[in-house]
Order: sequence, then C-alpha cells, then structure tokens
Amino acid sequence: MEYFSLTDAQRCILQHSSRAGIEKVGLTQALGRVLAEQVRSNRDHPPYDVSAMDGYALRVADLHIIPATLAVVEDIKAGDIPTMAVLPGQCARIMTGAPIPKGADTVIRVEDTQAPDFDKVKDADTVQVNQLAVKGTDIRSRGENLRNGAVVFDAGVEITPGVLGILAMVKHAQVAVYRRPRVAILSSGDELEGLDEPFDPNKIPDANSYTLLAQVQALGIEPVLLGIARDDPIELSQYLMRGLEFDVLLISGGTSVGVYDFVRPTIEALGIHMHFWRVAIRPGHPLAFGTTPDNLVFCLPGNPVSSMVCFEQFVAPALRNMMGHRRVYRRTISARLAHAVKHRPGRTELIRVVLSRDASGYLATATGSQGSGVLMSMAHADGLLFVPSDSNGLAAGDEAEVQLLDGTVFQEHSGASS
Ligand code: AMP
Ligand code: MG
Repeated sequence: MEYFSLTDAQRCILQHSSRAGIEKVGLTQALGRVLAEQVRSNRDHPPYDVSAMDGYALRVADLHIIPATLAVVEDIKAGDIPTMAVLPGQCARIMTGAPIPKGADTVIRVEDTQAPDFDKVKDADTVQVNQLAVKGTDIRSRGENLRNGAVVFDAGVEITPGVLGILAMVKHAQVAVYRRPRVAILSSGDELEGLDEPFDPNKIPDANSYTLLAQVQALGIEPVLLGIARDDPIELSQYLMRGLEFDVLLISGGTSVGVYDFVRPTIEALGIHMHFWRVAIRPGHPLAFGTTPDNLVFCLPGNPVSSMVCFEQFVAPALRNMMGHRRVYRRTISARLAHAVKHRPGRTELIRVVLSRDASGYLATATGSQGSGVLMSMAHADGLLFVPSDSNGLAAGDEAEVQLLDGTVFQEHSGASS
C-alpha cells in the first residue's frame, strides 16, 4: 500500500480531489475559470440575414446575362432597417453586417461591379455587375452564429478568451464557475532561512516556499505562505493545524525517514488519513498524500527540484481537478534525446530538459547536473522528460515523452509559412 507507482499515485490523488464548490464571478474576472452551469443563447445572432461584404444585394435571377445593369433603390448600412423591397432589375447598395432587404437573395462584392472604388458610385442610381454568383453568396443567415435558446456551453468548459466573447454575446454577465481551492504552503527544517530573515552564511535559504508559491500562482490560485516550521513536533503540529484551515496544505521537507523528520509522526497524530508515503519516481520519492473530510495534504520532498517535480505530477492535477478542469495534466510532446541517458529499472525518472526544434521535430537536451538539490536544472528547463520505470537507459536519438513546463506553449517563431 505504501510504495505507489507514479500513475497509481496520480489516480489515487484524483479520486480524492473533488470539485471545490461553485461561485458566481463577473464576466471580466472569469478568464481561465471553468463553467459550472449550462449556458444558452438569449438571441439569434445575427438577428436577421445580413451581408458578409460591402457590395450590392440583388436577385441572382437578374444575372442571367453578364454584365447586368441594375437600378440601385436604396443604401443600407449596418444598423439600418431596409425600407424597400428589391424587385426584378433592382438592387440595394449594402454594407457588411447590414440586413438583406426583402426580394434580394445574393450579395455581389463591390470588387465585382464596374467601379471598384465604392465612393465613386455613391450617388449613382445604377450599377453594372460583372460577376455571376450562386444564390445565397455572401449572406450570413439569421442565427448562423447563435440560435435563440440553444445551448452554447455545458458545465466543464474552460473560459478562454473565445468562450468569454460568446458569454458576452449572450449577455451572461455573471458566471457560475468552480471555486478555486484555498492553498497553504509550509516549509520545514531547522536549517532554513526565511526570505525576510537576516543573512546567515551557515543557513539554507528557503526556496520551496517560493517555487511552490509560483507554481500555485501559475494555476491561477493565490496561496498563503505559512512560513517555516522548525524540526520540533510541537511547533510542527501548531503549523499543521493552521494549515488544515485551508482546502489544500503543501508541506515541504521533513518527510523522509531521518531522525529529525517529524512530519510523518506529527501528521499521523493529527488523524490525517494517509493514502501513501512514497512514490517510485526520481527525483521525489518521499512524496506522501493524505486527506481529512475537508482537506488534501501533500508532503513534498525537501530537495527543491524534487518538490517542484512532485508539484507538477501530483499537486497541479489535484488543484486543476478541484477547479473543474477536464485537462488536469500538463501537455506532453514527443522529443528525440540529444544524448544517452543512464537508467536502472525501478523508478520513473524525470529529466529536466531544454527543447529545440529541427526538421524532424523536437530535440531534448538535459539541463546539466540532475542532482535533486540543483534547482538551476529546473530554472533552465523547458520540460521534464519521462524515462519509464522499466527502462535500461535511453540512447541518443531515442524518442521520449516530455512534459512541458510553464511558458513552453510559446515559441520564438510564429510557425506560419507565409
Ligand atoms: P528533508 O526532506 O527535510 O530531509 O530535506 C532534504 C533537503 O532539502 C535538505 O538538504 C534540506 O536542506 C533541503 N530543503 C528542505 N526544505 C527546503 C526548502 N524549503 N528550501 C530549500 N531547501 C530545502
Ligand atoms: Mg529537513
């Protein structure tokens, strides 16, 4: 029960991280949240058939001989209501977004008439059409975008800028979304020096509070830093109790089996139900997960790299699941290794890599020393390359999956060819 594989641990965590509840937010604050309600359109959009072009609304039957000369009976701008029907031999000058007048069934672009410069024909009462068309060309039909009463989104949809635009179109100014979990972060260790404490050359600066803070912030949640608990069961217990006021408590350090690693006994004394204490991954195997009816508790390794790697594999999916996301894991891509990687079967290994691209795809190169205390390897990383637990090592050129870290959805080149 204690030594879980990476995927077993992830499954167990997801089972226990249920939605954090529902709240209403204003539309302007809704970006990145997940809809917790079904939304329907309150209108037809467009509300009537409109022109997709600046041109002439006419009857296609009048184009049996080309060029055709038609009488211009009206000038219709977006926002106007047409007052005339278009009869045989007639047309209306029409702008993009303006309603199609009765009788007309087709729009001919101004470029396909005798005067490409629209202004010159402004006062003309006839127009010469030089182009045949099929009926319905360049007409956007009523309700083509949105149908009154139709479901536009179901619960579970992530609010991207495009989704937000549709919500604005259907006048959904207050949006029900899944609540963000409240997250607390605690560091533990006698050797640690806080960011605001005086510089002491013999101490270890607390990095984990800040890497975890940033990792939580990157998911759209503002966490609370509880500070540093010393390696003392009573002090640790007080901090943990404060941490249990939050939905999710992240503790780093003190979870191994060292004599001064008090997290395990202290947590057990508080009655937190622990699901596992170790995961077969490297870096990061002293990773523990527990629950109470109201909390998730993650005990992360003290080593800064391990803590960050474990956050991405275990904590981020839990937090995204609680916020209603269906896509809870970071995106992976396939990449070729630029060099060999040694590995003994047993644990899944996550190598910090930078990615470059050539004609045959992505190339992954390790970011220098892979020691679990070498945070620089994480600072430079574009992604984490998975070495499967049963691997006997990978050769240069082998394909592997790479989990993309923050920022790697952006690239230097636009990707367009013209
Ligand atoms: P522990 O898990 O407490 O045995 O710590 C493992 C290693 O991680 C030790 O070298 C600690 O000094 C280091 N460490 C623990 N917590 C932190 C932290 N918050 N920031 C930086 N290093 C840490
Ligand atoms: Mg420690």
